[in-house]
Amino acid sequence: MHELPITESIVRIASDEALKHNVSKINEIRIKIGEISGLVPECIQYYFDVVSAGTKAEGAKLIINKLPIVMKCVNCNFTGETDKFVENKCPDCGSTQMKMIGGNEFYIDSMEVEKDGD
Ligand SMILES: [Zn+2]
Repeated sequence: MHELPITESIVRIASDEALKHNVSKINEIRIKIGEISGLVPECIQYYFDVVSAGTKAEGAKLIINKLPIVMKCVNCNFTGETDKFVENKCPDCGSTQMKMIGGNEFYIDSMEVEKDGD
C-alpha cells in the first residue's frame, strides 16, 4: 500500500501551487500514473478524500490516467508498448535485449482551479 504517501504528495504539491497562484479552490486534478507503478486509482481517490480535508484541494475531482509500459530495443532502438514485443523479442531485429523507458511515471498533469478576486 504505497498509495497513501503518493496521495499526500499530490495534496502537498497541489496546495503549494494553489498558494503560489492565489487559488481559492481546486476543482480538478489530472494525474498520470504508469501501468507498472502498481498504483490503484480507487485507493488514491479514497486517500485523497481523507488527506485533502481542510486544504484547498478538498472536494476536488481526481482524474487519473494510466500510461502504458513502453519498451525500447537496445540493439536497434525500436520503441513500442509491451504488446509489440512478442515473446520478449524485438519485432524489428529479434533481439531480446530491451529496456523499459516508460510505465513507471507518476505526476500531476494539470489542475483546474478557481482564483481569488476576479
Ligand atoms: Zn531491435
